[in-house]
Amino acid sequence: MEFLSKNTEDTKYIAHRFVSDLKTSQGEALVFGLYGDLGAGKTTFMKYVASEFGIQETIQSPTFVIMKKYKLVNSTFDFLIHIDSYRLESGEEILKLDWLQIIRNPKNIIFIEWPDKIKDVMPEHKKIFFEHITENERKITFE
Ligand code: ADP
Ligand code: MG
Repeated sequence: MEFLSKNTEDTKYIAHRFVSDLKTSQGEALVFGLYGDLGAGKTTFMKYVASEFGIQETIQSPTFVIMKKYKLVNSTFDFLIHIDSYRLESGEEILKLDWLQIIRNPKNIIFIEWPDKIKDVMPEHKKIFFEHITENERKITFE
């Protein structure tokens, strides 16, 4: 499914719809790969998704911490995990963060920016593509 976002408010609404339509996971974590160039709107979308999940903290790009884990309340998921692999060259550092346990737990919902950088440790996932169209327009495509 494809959406044209004309401004950040549209992206917020797209995030709202996305979260409303989420189905719980069985067996393993629910994993989304966020694909797209720098500035395409991946972190912005994440920020709104986190807010839909009731996360109060400001979502910042986890570029320097690699992985951020947020405890969820009033959700069928226990943790929202946000990863930014931009600075990584492989999944080695991710593996050190208990990755195999994390992706095995169906109570985790995981979002990964730059999944191609950690192809070696990426589990099966759903893809979301972000494209920069004009200054304030973004195309968001859900596989
Ligand atoms: P990425 O994580 O993909 O590198 P960011 O979300 O950090 O991208 O940056 C996107 C930038 O584009 C933000 O500064 C945001 O305010 C801006 N922007 C402008 N229009 C939009 C839109 N329609 N949707 C999302 N972000 C937008
Ligand atoms: Mg980002």
